[in-house]
Amino acid sequence: MVLLLPTDKLSWSQGFPDCSGQKQSPINIITEATLFSPQLQPIHLSGYNLPPSEQLTLKNNGHTVVLRLPATLTMSGSNGQQYQAVQLHLHWGSPAGPGSEHTVDGQRYQAEIHVVHYNTRYDSIFQAMTQPDGLAVLAALLQAGPEKNPSYEHVLEHLEEVSEEGDDTLVAGFNIAGLLPADLSRYFRYNGSLTTPPCYQTVMWTVFNQTVRLSLDQILKLEETLYGDHDKLLENNFRLPQAMHGRRVLASFSVARGPEVPSVPDDGEAAMTPVPDGHAGAAAGRGLGPGGSSPEGTGPETHLGSSFQAGDVLAVLFGVLFAVTALAFLVYVHKQRSHSRRLDSPDKPKVIYTAATTEENAV
Ligand SMILES: [Zn+2]
Repeated sequence: MVLLLPTDKLSWSQGFPDCSGQKQSPINIITEATLFSPQLQPIHLSGYNLPPSEQLTLKNNGHTVVLRLPATLTMSGSNGQQYQAVQLHLHWGSPAGPGSEHTVDGQRYQAEIHVVHYNTRYDSIFQAMTQPDGLAVLAALLQAGPEKNPSYEHVLEHLEEVSEEGDDTLVAGFNIAGLLPADLSRYFRYNGSLTTPPCYQTVMWTVFNQTVRLSLDQILKLEETLYGDHDKLLENNFRLPQAMHGRRVLASFSVARGPEVPSVPDDGEAAMTPVPDGHAGAAAGRGLGPGGSSPEGTGPETHLGSSFQAGDVLAVLFGVLFAVTALAFLVYVHKQRSHSRRLDSPDKPKVIYTAATTEENAV
């Protein structure tokens, strides 16, 4: 979350004591250490689908690009509280490296979106932001993928109009939910802070497990279009992970790991590998999920196999079908891996877990 971004992050705590507090954000989410909490219900959004007649202000504030949101957008935080949206903004890196604020098992993603809300028990965000239960931010990690993301294009196509600090423009309303993952049921939850001064420790963070895909061109546009202080290119506007100081991260789902994860040979890109029980995982759904029935399942005892000849034909058919499915899956995995390799920085740490992704995010 960006409100103000002095150039020297180390000096923040001098003017803003909370910046050196014990509940700071962002953090590195260690999936193995998360606690499954069945109380964390799917995030429910209301009023996010805006008509084109609704004009939204998009502004370059010198630290990020901010889209102001009407008061009609609300979310439920699965804690009985209602939150009202105020604005959304982005954090990004540079062509030389990724720039998400939150990292997952040490992996930094290309960029990150924050949708900032305040608790409606308070009269305004200014009153709420100093209260322990005042703010809620929805965060999603953005990755490069093969397709242009039309939802993000609603914002990105206006970036040139706000290239200089202080510039603003109007954007026609669209479905703001399209900027977030399709799966709002799987997320991480922890208590943290604004990631910029005054670093108030009043934010209930929701970091979605599913990532959102933008094309590489869209990521590059974000990294190379805006200018901030002293006409300097606005890039790498993310804060580094902060110490946990004993905090635990909750998960709305059980983060299964290890050998159950469909394996990808060597340490290659596993970006398309969902957590095993993920119903939204694209890769698993194509080749290994319940949809990919195995030929063993269609034995001669089924009613289709009453005649010997028919059974033979069916066996051959299913055999061919299985082979084609398996081949398509291998080609798909290969393409994803080689594509991802091009996009990754060479020093990317080896990770066991990666956030689930789907191609559907691109449309
Ligand atoms: Zn932010």
